[in-house]
Amino acid sequence: MRIGVLASQGAFAEHIAILQCLEVEALPVRLPRELVGLDGLIIPGGESTSISKLMLDYRLANEIRNLSRNGLPMFGTCAGMILIANKISDSDVESLGVMDITVRRNAFGRQRESFETELSIPVLGEKPFPGIFIRAPLIEETSSRVEIIARLADGTSVAARQGRLLVSAFHPELTNDLRFHQYFLDIVTGHR
Ligand code: GLN
Repeated sequence: MRIGVLASQGAFAEHIAILQCLEVEALPVRLPRELVGLDGLIIPGGESTSISKLMLDYRLANEIRNLSRNGLPMFGTCAGMILIANKISDSDVESLGVMDITVRRNAFGRQRESFETELSIPVLGEKPFPGIFIRAPLIEETSSRVEIIARLADGTSVAARQGRLLVSAFHPELTNDLRFHQYFLDIVTGHR
């Protein structure tokens, strides 16, 4: 299995390290030709404005949209979730627009800009998952095709799946819990 990690900007090295722990071939993607032959693509956290601009400059955006339409599994964390969304309610960042979610950037006020909390994510089993939120977005709206897989205690939606698309507002790549990435790999192989 070959999983690409968009490496234009942001926390791509951490995703590559987790995939290596799971014994998967992980390839950084900076150019359109590096998208060829991938079984899945991860869009990392970072700064969605910069990643969006770099995807346009390097002619990656349309290529990724086409691959996604043809069924390429994708997993976006934090800024990656923003870039996968169909709509960003409070920003004119150009997203890829491949998943039926509306997100709000920097959705947690100053005091809670970054925080850590244990999340209940039933699809990963009973053990709570460490949620690391860094200037995180939230999911405001979805279509009925989207399944919310994690919420904060107050009900805020922070992770979701739509078929082969997976997003989280938090950063599983900054933990040593491999279950979220394993869940994505199970989607890629069709076991979920
Ligand atoms: N706040 C960033 C943005 O809007 C996302 C932060 C992150 O990826 N950790 O792009």
